[in-house]
Order: sequence, then structure tokens, then C-alpha cells
Amino acid sequence: MFNRTPIVGGNWKMNTDLASARSLAGEVVVASRELTPHCEIVLFPPFPYIATVGDVIRGTDIRLGAQDVHHKPNGAYTGSVSAAMLVNLDVTHVLIGHSERRHAPEGVAEGDRLINLKLKAALEAGLTAVLCLGETLEQREAGKTEEITLSQLDAALEGVSADAAAQIVLAYEPVWAIGTGRNATPEDAQAVHRLLRQRLGMRYNEELARATRIQYGGSVKGSNASSLFSQPDIDGGLIGGASLNSEEFLTIVRAAAETVAA
Ligand code: PEP
Repeated sequence: MFNRTPIVGGNWKMNTDLASARSLAGEVVVASRELTPHCEIVLFPPFPYIATVGDVIRGTDIRLGAQDVHHKPNGAYTGSVSAAMLVNLDVTHVLIGHSERRHAPEGVAEGDRLINLKLKAALEAGLTAVLCLGETLEQREAGKTEEITLSQLDAALEGVSADAAAQIVLAYEPVWAIGTGRNATPEDAQAVHRLLRQRLGMRYNEELARATRIQYGGSVKGSNASSLFSQPDIDGGLIGGASLNSEEFLTIVRAAAETVAA
């Protein structure tokens, strides 16, 4: 079996204010010291608070993430942030293709082509790209989970070399499970994770497939994290709502760390 260090991300989305972002990051720093050797922790604050959170976690093993990136290096793209700007702020990880951007009812609607461009821009800048994939409820009920997740993966990886792909973390996030309190059963999630890993093996090579971390995301809580993370192809989680409470978030990190220690 391949020894992958689990990775747990806290996606704060459009939550917190300056003071609460600072204190939440501080609480995670204090409570996670003995956990970071066993689990990589990444915080994804809103853009305006990245520098502040970066100051709080500086000198620790906690990594700094961004929730999005523009695919162009610079230019007249009002409101956008480039990969180089993120690197300037010591950001190491970036979310690509989150379902709240792919399927946003209020207008972002990122498609496969844009996600592919963003992924390549992030990798070229040396960032670790957390590529989010997942089917909607309608697609799951139509029996299309495999087809959709594999086609999202293939489209995102178009033109990405094996060397570059080694900097990718996958996050399987069934859309119907995000922020809804519903989650995939550990067995259903495991089946998709294994499928994604097999596809990486076919596209690249077995070593890369075995080394790639695949997070699960969708209403992960302290109470269900262990059963999900104990599946052989689930390497931690991408956490939304539960990452806004440091105690709950740390319970989830501990569950991931214990899969290594076990
Ligand atoms: C997410 O934002 O990626 C997520 C999984 O959210 P939640 O944990 O709230 O479902």
C-alpha cells in the first residue's frame, strides 16, 4: 500500500470577517501542532484575508490556500487575481473547479475549458491545484456519476504533463452533498475515488496514481469523518461549513491523522 499523507482543507468560502478570520486561523494553529506531521492542513480564506491568515500561520506547517485564480498572468481583468499574486502572498494551494463556481446559480458558471486553463496556470506558477469534481443529484439519479466525474477529470487534465500532474490533489465532491447535510456513503465515495485513481493510472502511470491524494468533500463533520477517511482511496477531506468552527475542524483533521497513525 502507498503511504499518502492525508490532506484536509478548510474552505471558508465567503464567510468570516477580518477579526474572525484571524482568530479562527489562530485557534487552528494552537490546536493542530501535534497533528501536522500526520496530516497536511490547508486554510482557504476569502481573498481579502489571505495576507492576514498568512501572517497568523507563518512559521507553522499549516498551508495557505486560495479559493480561485484567474488563468491569465496579468491584464485588464477587473476583480480577478493571478497565480503570481497568490504566490507573492505565500499561497501554496488553490481550489480549481469548485462546484459553487461550476454550477453557481448566480452566474459564475465555469466550464471545463476554463477550468483546464486555470489548472494549467496554477501548476505553471508552482501552486498545488486542488481540482474539484463531482456530479449533480440529477446526474447521480440518472446513473451518470462515473461518466461525469471521469469526463470532468479528462477535460481538466487536457495538455497537463505527468510532471505537472504530480502537483494536483483531487477533491471528489458530489454537488448534492455540499452544504446540504447529506453525504455519500463511505462505500459510494470509495468507488468513485478508486475510479478516479484508475483513470490517473491510465492517463499517466501507476506511480502517479498511487501517489495522488484524493479528498472527499460534502458535509463532512467530526461525526462522519473517520468512516469516510478509513476507506483506502480517500485521503482526507475538503471541508466547508465545518471548517468555520475550529473544534469541529480539528476533530476532522484528527480523524485524518489517525488513518496514518493506525
Ligand atoms: C466545500 O465547500 O467544498 C464543501 C464540501 O462544503 P460543505 O463541507 O459545507 O459541504
